[in-house]
Amino acid sequence: MDCLFCKIISGEIPSKKIYEDASSVGFLDINPANPGHTLVVPKRHSENIFDADDESLKGAIVAVKKVTSMIKERTGCQGVNIVQNNGKAAGQIVSHVHFHVIPRNQGDSVVISYPRKQTDEKELDDMASKLTRKKSAALDEEIMREMGRL
Ligand code: 5GP
Ligand code: ZN
Repeated sequence: MDCLFCKIISGEIPSKKIYEDASSVGFLDINPANPGHTLVVPKRHSENIFDADDESLKGAIVAVKKVTSMIKERTGCQGVNIVQNNGKAAGQIVSHVHFHVIPRNQGDSVVISYPRKQTDEKELDDMASKLTRKKSAALDEEIMREMGRL
């Protein structure tokens, strides 16, 4: 498959791997936001979070937690951002699902920013019902069941 991160996982393309387990790999981002910026990827290819299987995602988030601890211990950073982009509109460049682990320190130059909008009770209610409106799709049913609404 012609996928950059699949090639990094297999070793066909070199990378600075800092973590590996049965289902995930962690390697240093080639253009780090801060030193130690790491990408954690499931070994099984999927383009984004919508396509990824649950097992891969569960494995990846546990790997993210371990990598986060490693980075915090070894760099002494004060905080960490976990960033995960899906789709071009959301800033995804590489089409293999990945989690950014970005070490942070007070006053560093990294900016992760979005404008916060004003809203009101009605708008929030409308959105909540739009997002939870009962439909026939299996996914909706599953979500409603988990929320105790079925
Ligand atoms: P995205 O914008 O898709 O969420 O992030 C992709 C990330 O992959 C970027 O932060 C970019 O620096 C990193 N990246 C792109 N090409 C390579 C590469 O060949 N090797 C490594 N280690 N990272 C890469
Ligand atoms: Zn891939």
